[in-house]
Amino acid sequence: MKISDLLKEEKFSLSFEVFPPKTSTAFASIQAATEAIAALGPSFVSVTYGAGGGTSAYTLDMAKNIQEKFQVPTLAHLTCVSSSRETVAQRIRDIRNAGIGNIMALRGDLTPELEATDRSQWNYRHAVELVREIKASAPEICIGGACYPEVHPESATQKEDILHLKEKVEAGCDFLTTQMFFDNNLFFNFLYKIREAGIFVPVLPGIMPITKANQVARAIKLSGSFMPQRFKSLVDRFGENSAAMQQAGIAYATDQIIDLFANGIHHVHVYSMNKPEVAAKILENLSEILK
Ligand code: FAD
Repeated sequence: MKISDLLKEEKFSLSFEVFPPKTSTAFASIQAATEAIAALGPSFVSVTYGAGGGTSAYTLDMAKNIQEKFQVPTLAHLTCVSSSRETVAQRIRDIRNAGIGNIMALRGDLTPELEATDRSQWNYRHAVELVREIKASAPEICIGGACYPEVHPESATQKEDILHLKEKVEAGCDFLTTQMFFDNNLFFNFLYKIREAGIFVPVLPGIMPITKANQVARAIKLSGSFMPQRFKSLVDRFGENSAAMQQAGIAYATDQIIDLFANGIHHVHVYSMNKPEVAAKILENLSEILK
C-alpha cells in the first residue's frame, strides 16, 4: 500500500522506524526485534539504509520480510551520494521487484572520505536527483523525502533550505518525514513556513523516544536538535537509573505525540530504533486515542 494513501486517512496512527544489521552475525536478533515491532500493527514500518550502502541488501530483506509476514506496508530507505548510477538503478529495480511500493529518497550524509574526493566526479549531489530518477524509472512508487524543522546543517538559512525542499517536492516527493525534534513548537513553525512557501504534501513529524542518558549526546550530534530545559532536567534527574530514564523518555515522547494529535496532526513517525518494548509502551500509552 502506498503511504500517500495511508496519510489521507483521518484517524490517528503511528509508524515505526527500524534499522538493518551491519553484519550477518547480528541479523537474527535484529530481524526478531523488527518483527516484534511489525507485530504491533503500525500503519507502516520504515527500514533505514546504511550510510554508504553497507547494509543495502538487508534493508530490502527486512522490508520484504515485514511486508510479507505481517502485511504491514514498508518504506525502504535509499541513499545516493556515495553510489554509482548503475547501483542506484539496480536498487530501485530490486525494491520494485520485491513488491515494495514506497521509497524514502535520501542523499545520505557526507562522510569525511567522500568530502575528500572531487565533487565534480560525484554521481549525485542532492536527494532531488534521486527523486527525479525514481519518478522516471518507477513512476508508480510512492516517494518520501526528508525535511528539517531546525534547518539542515549544510544550509546557511532556513529560507534556502525550504527553497531546496520545494524543488525536491516538485520533483516528485509524495510526503515528507522530519528529522527528530524535542520541542513541538519548532515543528509547528516549520509547517507554517513550508505551507507559506507553497509546499502542500503531508508532513510526518518524526519523534525519537530517548530512553537512555547516553543517547542524548548522540542524538544532538546526529540531528543538531534543540533540547528544551524540561527534557534536560529529566535526563539530569533520571539518567543514572535506567528503568526510570526509560519510563521518563517514553512519557516525554508520548506527551509530544499527544500534543501533535491535539493540534491537527494525524500521523506521527516514531524512531523506534529496533526497540519493540519502547514502541509497545507508546502504543499502550495511546491506546484510547488510537482506537
Ligand atoms: P538533500 O535533500 O539533498 O539536502 C541536503 C542539503 O542540501 C540541505 O541543506 C538542502 O537544503 C541542500 N540542497 C538540496 N538540494 C540542493 C540543491 N539543488 N542545491 C544546493 N543545495 C541543495 N541517512 C542514511 O544514511 N540512511 C537513512 O536511512 C536515512 N534516513 C533518514 C530519514 C529521515 C526522515 C531523515 C530526516 C534523515 C535520514 N538520513 C538517513 C540522513 C540524511 O541522509 C542526511 O540528513 C543527509 O545529510 C541529507 O539527506 P537529504 O535527503 O535530506 O538531502
